[in-house]
Amino acid sequence: TLGRIMENIGYYNGTFAPMEQLSIPALDRGVYFGDGVYEALRVERHRFFALKEHLSRLRDSLAFLRIAFPMTDEALTAILQEAADRVDSDSQQLYFQVTRATAMRTHSFPESGEANLLVFSRGVPLADLTDYRRVVMLADTRWGHCNIKSLNLIPSVLAAQAAKERGCSEAVFHRDGVVSECSSSNLLLLKDGVLRTAPADERILPGVTRAHFLMIARELGVPVDETAFTLEEMLDADELMITSTSAHGLPVGFVDDKPVCGRDEALLRKLQKAYREFFWSSIEANA
Ligand code: PMP
Repeated sequence: TLGRIMENIGYYNGTFAPMEQLSIPALDRGVYFGDGVYEALRVERHRFFALKEHLSRLRDSLAFLRIAFPMTDEALTAILQEAADRVDSDSQQLYFQVTRATAMRTHSFPESGEANLLVFSRGVPLADLTDYRRVVMLADTRWGHCNIKSLNLIPSVLAAQAAKERGCSEAVFHRDGVVSECSSSNLLLLKDGVLRTAPADERILPGVTRAHFLMIARELGVPVDETAFTLEEMLDADELMITSTSAHGLPVGFVDDKPVCGRDEALLRKLQKAYREFFWSSIEANA
């Protein structure tokens, strides 16, 4: 049946099954090269948030990696919707990835073989935006194409673990003292009433949430500045915010165990509130 029956149903290349039973071939190039791209989006009451933006970024990532994925957005959306509908939770995080092909291991692209689609969704409550979080600073040792949402996430995995081991929510990456983003989120700062974040170049993932916060700030008459900032400027910010699909906009109050920020909480809360309102009205509009 297609009922909302499970909490752990997944999909791979045409088959829906409980995640424990869902297997993918060892020769899926995602397994041994991470040769693929992914997206993650919020699903509230079985309705998508910002689906168009996520599909558009997926197409960009696929194009960068020259992965042919002939499925239409309509067909893909139908599969994503079914994956979400089969999960009971009213508040989900839906993940999907596209890998290049299933083929014998050779570095160059295989002569034949089609892209593989893996989808799963699970109940994840919306983040609590109240408490100021802790972050650590780490050198950004990732590659030169962080704008591609590639499956190769080892530096991000190691950074997230390092943050966790120090009781922190995130790691802030910097290249020679210039802040790029976090291990799985973007970083925004408030200084003298201006919202500032690194430019959307190849050093960061162009976050959907980042773009929405910039849009909301402009609507509220808050000036925005998309120029890179240093660690010193970050430590001197009035407020810092981690943004992502799952985090929405989390305030940061400690960097490497030192207290920072808390100097423009009114504007911080105003932006968070406006974002949540925009989020819920978008979900409403998808009825
Ligand atoms: N940067 C990185 C490295 C990410 O992995 C993510 C997504 N988890 C983001 C930023 C935030 O992107 P979005 O707002 O689209 O979730």
